Amino acid sequence: MKDNSGYVASFSKLIQCPTVTDSGHEYFEAFHKALDEEFPHVAATCSKMELGRDVLLYKWAGKHSDRPVVLMAHQDVVPAVGGDWICDPFSATVKDGKIYGRGTIDCKNTLFCTIQAVDELIAEGVTPEQDIYLSYSDCEENSGPGAEMARDWFKAHGVKPNVVIDEGGAIVRKDGKYMVKDGAMVGIIEKGYADVRIIARGKGGHSSQPPKNTPIARLAAFVNYVETHNVFKPGMSAPAKAMILGLADVLKPGLKGIAKLAGHMGSLTAHIMPKLNAHYGAPMFKSTVVFTMCDGATAPNVIPQEAWVNANVRVSPLDSVEKCVAKLEKIAKKFDCEVQLGNNREASPMADLSGDGYTQFVAAIKKTYPDVEVVPYYMFGGTDCRTMQEIAVTAIRCTPCRLSSEQLGGMHAANENIDITSLEETVNFFKTFLREYN
Ligand SMILES: [Zn+2]
Repeated sequence: MKDNSGYVASFSKLIQCPTVTDSGHEYFEAFHKALDEEFPHVAATCSKMELGRDVLLYKWAGKHSDRPVVLMAHQDVVPAVGGDWICDPFSATVKDGKIYGRGTIDCKNTLFCTIQAVDELIAEGVTPEQDIYLSYSDCEENSGPGAEMARDWFKAHGVKPNVVIDEGGAIVRKDGKYMVKDGAMVGIIEKGYADVRIIARGKGGHSSQPPKNTPIARLAAFVNYVETHNVFKPGMSAPAKAMILGLADVLKPGLKGIAKLAGHMGSLTAHIMPKLNAHYGAPMFKSTVVFTMCDGATAPNVIPQEAWVNANVRVSPLDSVEKCVAKLEKIAKKFDCEVQLGNNREASPMADLSGDGYTQFVAAIKKTYPDVEVVPYYMFGGTDCRTMQEIAVTAIRCTPCRLSSEQLGGMHAANENIDITSLEETVNFFKTFLREYN
């Protein structure tokens, strides 16, 4: 059995494989070799399905197959170029009880803690009540097809997961300033997504004799209008309310009452908060839009015949892709622009907070982390989980791993790191959950 230093050695080996998305099969091959070496009981006992690309799916057969569990994570990481790293980002340097490296919290910690938990339980002679699957995509970071390939395997084999657990929220350490308790942010929903291309056309021509109202001028006026008006209506959705009321339990006494009141005031809160705090208030209570890409002529002295900007819309569960696009289209027409819908998906369904998948997950948190308060977490960004959610009863987006807000800031940034004690606690959590799941 691995002790504390065994965890560090195994985890470091995973971090030292630079599995940057689409960097090359050889890096993932080395990563798979490390998995076989470090988790010998999984290698010997679980069936391993290689689904194409470098996607991995393990099945640990349980006593029953009617309510399986899928634990997800991704093998790939974002590049670690730039930033002021204190060490080589693929060295897994240990310093002050922390391991530094790309992927330490996004999300080789999730991968390590799930496979380590299964490995230990097998070594202890445990057979789970239900089949347990470990599903590890190789291309989450560029929204590649890995998770879909896994979903298709489940569909083809007629397996309907009862609960799917993926990365998302973490256990946020109390900051002493606002929070008096650590909060386990259990992701219960993710917002929808739409890329909308706004296109302006014109006659073009030589830039030395410019007409008025060229495509870029109209696009600029459109962008300015959208940025300065409340295009999407705010509202109090069920996940926003659940999160605010949950947060109340980790806040210091003065703020606790305010949060409770805000949660119960519904629409009033939803109207005020986006104005008070654009960073959290806007995404929490409405669909948001931001302009992310644009293009015009191919040379500096050419007036474009066509120019475009990309509006990236995050769709609230109270809205729909269709409603958001219709609003943008109405405004675009005023500026003589057209819209074209690209990649899009609706907000995911919200996890059933009284369903057994959620309640068993929460019970395992309470058992392994008695000092922590569970907070339902409304996720503004996306995860692979949405793909598997299509076929599962419940989807939960959370790795119960203690991280400070400073550590959370290291995600996709320099000096990503994790506490060694957090790894131990999280393995313990997954062991408890899997041992008791039925
Ligand atoms: Zn991730």
